[in-house]
Parts: sequence; C-alpha cells; structure tokens
Amino acid sequence: MSRPVAWGTRAVRAGIDSDRQHRAVVPPIHLSANFSFGAPGEPGRYDYTRSGNPTRDQLAEALSDLEGGAGGVVTSSGMAAVTTVLFQCGPGDLVVAPHDCYGGTHRLLRALEKRTGVRVLFVDQGSEAGLVAARAARPRLVWVETPSNPLLRVVDIRAWVGVAREAGALCAVDNTFLSPAFQRPLELGADVVVHSTTKFVNGHSDVVGGAVIAQDAVLVEQLAWWANCLGVTGAPFDAWLTLRGLRTLRARSRAHEENALHLVDAALGHPALAALHHPSLPGHPGHEVAARQQDGWGSLITLDLEGGRRAVDAFLTGLRHFTLAESLGGVESLVAHPASMTHASMDEPARLAAGVHEGLLRLSVGIEDPKDLEQDLVAALCRAEEVVCQPV
Ligand SMILES: *Cc1c(COP(=O)(O)O)cnc(C)c1O
Repeated sequence: MSRPVAWGTRAVRAGIDSDRQHRAVVPPIHLSANFSFGAPGEPGRYDYTRSGNPTRDQLAEALSDLEGGAGGVVTSSGMAAVTTVLFQCGPGDLVVAPHDCYGGTHRLLRALEKRTGVRVLFVDQGSEAGLVAARAARPRLVWVETPSNPLLRVVDIRAWVGVAREAGALCAVDNTFLSPAFQRPLELGADVVVHSTTKFVNGHSDVVGGAVIAQDAVLVEQLAWWANCLGVTGAPFDAWLTLRGLRTLRARSRAHEENALHLVDAALGHPALAALHHPSLPGHPGHEVAARQQDGWGSLITLDLEGGRRAVDAFLTGLRHFTLAESLGGVESLVAHPASMTHASMDEPARLAAGVHEGLLRLSVGIEDPKDLEQDLVAALCRAEEVVCQPV
C-alpha cells in the first residue's frame, strides 16, 4: 500500500508540470484581467480576474491542500482575509476575539462595531474566566489567534472550537504565526483558517497577501462570493510569487526554528532580560498546549528588557543582522518594538491589558547563519544591560 504523499512534497510539487499547452515545468502566470466567452452567455471556466483567475486558484488549492480544507480564497492582504471572514457576521451578531489579537484585527473589529452593529467581546483566551464569559455570550463567530502577538501566548484551539460548537458558532483561527508547517487548525476542529501570506507562507517579504481556507465546501463558496463582492481577491502576480515561496516552506520552517532555538539558548538568563518568551521553554505558560497542538515551536521570540525604553534604544543601536521593521516570517531577521510599531493603533489601556509595554521587543528569526545572529543578539543584550547599570 502506498503511503500518503507528505506535505513537504506536496508544497514543492503544487502546480508543477500542470501546463498542457507547452509542458512548462513551473506553472505559467495568467495576468489577464479577462477571459473570452465562447458565445454570449457561454463563459469558460474563468471570465474576469476579480472573480476567478487560474494562477490565484493554483495558490488557493495548494494552501487548502496543506491546511486540509475543502477549498480556499486568496485575498489581497491578510486584513482582506480577516475582513472576508468578519463579513459572515451581521448586525447583532457577536464576535468573541482575543484581547491581544493582531493590532489590525483589533482595529477592524472596533471599527465594525461602531459602523455595522456587529458586537465584539474581547477576552483572555488563556483564562478560565475568558471561556466562561464567551460561553455565556452566545457568539456567532469565535476568533482565535495562536500563538499571540507579541507575547506568544498559546491558545488551546480544541477548547475554543468547543465553545463555538456549543453556541452553533463558527470558529476561525488566524494561523499566520505558525503556517501549516507547524499547525493545522482544521484538523483540531476549526471551521476556517486565516493567513497573512505576507509572513511565513510567502516568506520573502516581497508580497502582501492573505488567504482564507474552510473545512466546508458551502462555506468556501460563501467566502469566495464575499471576497469577489468586496473586491478583495489577490492579484495574479502576487499569487504566483507566493506559490513560489510556498515551495520552500518546509525547508525554511526548519531553518527558522533551528535558529530560533539556538538564540533562545544563547539569550536565556542574560541579565538584561526581565523575561524571554518562547513556547519551547518548559516554563512558558503555553508550553504543554503547544507541544500537543503544534508540530514546531515557531521562530518568533519576544524579549522583555529590564531597562524599559532606554534599554530598547541601546539594544537597537548597532544591530548588524536584525533590521528594525514590522512584519515577520521572511528569510531575513527582523526586530520590532510592538508598543510603538505593530500595536501603536491600540489605545494605551488596551495595549497594557494585552501586556504590550515599552520594554518588549519581538524578534522574527531568519535563516541566516546562527553564529552571526547569536553574536549580534548577545552584543545587543550587553548594550541594554549597560544602560540599566548607568545612573539616569
Ligand atoms: C500581519 C498579520 C495580519 C495582517 O496581514 P496583512 O497581510 O499585513 O494585511 C493578520 N494577522 C496576523 C497574525 C498578522 O501577523
């Protein structure tokens, strides 16, 4: 009996050798905005690229295959993917979302609440109180994001799928931080998976894109209808680049994680640190759930510097291999200051409630040589430590 083909092979092979016209090994790109009709009322499979495009479909099929879905919709950004899912809710419907969700998702939920009559309940999805409050509220949609940004709190997907089931609600999981390489929420019972493909899926920081994948074919149709209606489907060229990035997801994910574990080891216990957050650490509050529901620990590390903002400035001055930038999941290493960058659109009380204070730095560990990254990180921590020792 033959073994099922492993995901890493399927990622590499997606669309390969599928061109019947010229037998191109790598699938050709279809940039055309429109497709001809055979006769009035007789379109071919495609008519207009906003509603459907062969190159975009190839990426949607590849992502759906890797997540184990019935199909997917490729969107112009991660936020377009979030928007497409949130449009499944109408006036009076309640969305339960994590209080420390992605800043853009938080902003959109707040804005929709004001504009459309969708109601939102933000909860701590790691707490028993959060589960109780969500159950009592009878949501229409349960939004999960795990690991969370930037503290890498791990949410038990099965537990929140349970809350959604009891209420007859949909459960959507933002899987951007791990990608299907390390976590497949549909296998844990979720209805919908959302990605900012800008991050690990494309992996080269040269495309902004998103995707929604669903367990159920009828829901896929509804999501595709809304993406077309709203006009948020992705561009063919972006889909083509993202499919190219996806081919190396297995190799990249391994290299990212290996480097992250190396840096956790190198930084752990450094006197400049008040805390170091990474789910691989046995002391991390989400360690056990992560071990159960993830296939890897991920390559984001969050540092909490003892010296607050002054230490952050010293840390950042003189870095050689980490670029100060938003985003994550590219082959190049980045560092972000969440309080002033990714989470700047949250008001201060909400930010502090989510644990995002001035001393936090989030590292997106790339695939460079680990020794170079280690040297750079340790030197930065030493600069941060000196600041703490100097009188103000
Ligand atoms: C980046 C990100 C988004 C938004 O994606 P864009 O591609 O920037 O629109 C949503 N969720 C998470 C977890 C992200 O990191």
